[in-house]
Amino acid sequence: MQNWYQIIPKNTGLSTYIWIIFCLLPFFFIFRSSSLIEIIFGIVMILLFFLSYRLSFISHSRSVYVWVSIEMAISITMTLLYGYIYFALFLAFFIGSIQKFSGFLTLYIVHLVTTIAAITTVFLTQNEALFPQLPFVIICVIGVILLPFTMYSRIKREKLEGQLEDANKKISQLMVVEERERIARDLHDTLGQKLSLIGLKSDLAGKLIEKKPEAAQKEIHDINQTARTALNEVREMVSNMRRAKLEEEILRVQQMLEAAEIKFRVDHTQLPSPPPLVENVLSMCLRESVTNVVKHSKATECELSFKQTAEDFEMQIKDNGTGFNSKQISLEGHGLQGMRERLEFVNGSLDITSHKGTRITIRVPYLNQHQKQEESV
Ligand code: ATP
Ligand code: MG
Repeated sequence: MQNWYQIIPKNTGLSTYIWIIFCLLPFFFIFRSSSLIEIIFGIVMILLFFLSYRLSFISHSRSVYVWVSIEMAISITMTLLYGYIYFALFLAFFIGSIQKFSGFLTLYIVHLVTTIAAITTVFLTQNEALFPQLPFVIICVIGVILLPFTMYSRIKREKLEGQLEDANKKISQLMVVEERERIARDLHDTLGQKLSLIGLKSDLAGKLIEKKPEAAQKEIHDINQTARTALNEVREMVSNMRRAKLEEEILRVQQMLEAAEIKFRVDHTQLPSPPPLVENVLSMCLRESVTNVVKHSKATECELSFKQTAEDFEMQIKDNGTGFNSKQISLEGHGLQGMRERLEFVNGSLDITSHKGTRITIRVPYLNQHQKQEESV
């Protein structure tokens, strides 16, 4: 529900046309009545229902319960007077969107009891009003029983998925900040110190060069040593930065899986040491695959394994969840597509086997164009 004039519930799984029929149908029912008073009363009831239905979506706090009570009263009146029972479905959808469990359960029970009581009363007193539409009455009652729970859990799941995505984004931002600070610290502690030492020693060598050439020579030798050490430290620092990424990603997905109460297994001893570009791609694929496990699989276990052969790096993510048909995946998602595109860039491949759980195998050949270029630089 977005605009004030919209009374058709969204994300219900039913087409808008069916909802339009549900909105028009009560008018048909009341126009079957004989007296003008009954018709006018019916129209007022319908308009009042839609008004309070709309208000119940935009209200917060307790007034929601007032609007729902009015809707229930109108729904019962329409059932008893005109044999129109389908307002109960509107109510079932709305009740499913109440996320406070106690409120949801109370309204669910009250709605179910009153709807069944009203339908039973009509059947007992004026059988001909509902008997012709018996199959629809049964569908409506099943809807009143099941729809609130379906809606309730769907909304809850969507909310959790949203929170998971937000948390992922925040973690990524924090990681960038932390990494920047670490680089600044490392540069200061290693390169900064060594460069000032080189500066001091070269000043000293300059002063000594004429008076004490041997001492100056020793200082120059020290400068040479310090520069070499600094160079080694920088190399080490850079390679540490590169190596850290996949390990950090593993740590991150471990936290994510722990939060989702999914058991995680990984063999750290097999961790590969690919070039930075491949490591970036593998990290991204790992993150997306595990996010999918958390979002879609309903798994209780997830296993991560690596293999490094003479030809390629292999990473495998396995879960014991529901699995999915990889040929009919939703076109709305970009995760798997993004993985494929990135892997193409490093000549890698993505293989999905999904049967009683999902197994994603990612392979990147050891020698590819980009690596060759990097190595030649
Ligand atoms: P996005 O990644 O763009 O947020 P998404 O996760 O729906 O959206 P993809 O990552 O491309 O999109 O996944 C496509 C579909 O494949 C998912 O909607 C889901 O149905 C299915 N899927 C992917 N991984 C798994 C898994 N481990 N278990 C069950 N289903 C999965
Ligand atoms: Mg995804």
